[in-house]
Amino acid sequence: MFEHLDRASLATTPTALERGPIVGGGARLWVKRDDLTGLGGGGNKARKLEFLCGDAQRVGARALVTVGAAQSNHCRMTAAAGARLGMEVHLILAGDEPETATGNQLLSSLFGAQLHFTGAAESHWGELEIAREALTNQLADGGLEPYSIPIGGSTAIGALGYAAGFVELVDQCADRLMMPSTVVFTSSSGGTHAGMLAGRAALIAAGRVVPDVIGIGVAKGVNIGRPDVAELANETLDLMQLPDVRVDPADVEVDIRWIGDDYAVPAEAGDEAIRWAATNGGWLLDRTYSGKGLSGALGLADEGRFGNSDVVFVHTGGWPALFAADGVPA
Ligand SMILES: *Cc1c(COP(=O)(O)O)cnc(C)c1O
Repeated sequence: MFEHLDRASLATTPTALERGPIVGGGARLWVKRDDLTGLGGGGNKARKLEFLCGDAQRVGARALVTVGAAQSNHCRMTAAAGARLGMEVHLILAGDEPETATGNQLLSSLFGAQLHFTGAAESHWGELEIAREALTNQLADGGLEPYSIPIGGSTAIGALGYAAGFVELVDQCADRLMMPSTVVFTSSSGGTHAGMLAGRAALIAAGRVVPDVIGIGVAKGVNIGRPDVAELANETLDLMQLPDVRVDPADVEVDIRWIGDDYAVPAEAGDEAIRWAATNGGWLLDRTYSGKGLSGALGLADEGRFGNSDVVFVHTGGWPALFAADGVPA
């Protein structure tokens, strides 16, 4: 499914699948440790960047340009990928340049990336994307041959990383003679979700038993809806040379009840989940993504959604944001 595709070796995979405690309704929680993908502190973007950077190398790019929120994990991991592959990295970020860099920004600088602050609000992704395009054109005019990556790396090429990641997870479960009813994870720009659904559809077409997939939505600014995710999944299946395998918009389940007030605004339930994960498993979650994502998984368990089945929470990372201002809940 993936052998014909260009891929840079950046992530440490397969990531561990750890057993967690019994949660609401008697569900058996498992945690897929995609926070430990290795690259520059780890997280879900490492899987996407393997295919994105493979493509960048194929076209002979010498620089990577990407964009994100002020504390973007995707930007931090792109910075690390550039460091590994010998490519210059430019990051377009929301907000203004802080007096002292913290968290992901500190790490992005350490990896040698150049940070460009736009002053844009955290959830104004359209404004950020325009700034990315402008900088990409400027660098191209300067002869740098930049490879420009949209927010979250959520193109069909990036989503390939989670198609492969989903196959990895299902194989890992099958090896343990355990098949979860559901895989739950934190969804923002939709690429992780699209990739998982593409991988799931490919496995169904191959006659395999697969779990359901639920994304816990933590961003409304982008408004990635069901048709968008299905379309992205289908483009991903095209790249996998499976044009007859399709994802239907009805297969896309995004639960947006756990976002709180907005993207990157801490929520009470998310903060509670951060404390729960830290004290029940030694897991590090963040306030923008994985904390809210786990609050959704635990909340759904409490509602009886999973019964007493096995459920996998894919831990997509984000711990460096704990070391940003107000990164740890009080
Ligand atoms: C980017 C990110 C997500 C969401 O992934 P998308 O593909 O953008 O939906 C979830 N968790 C963390 C920690 C992230 O950095």
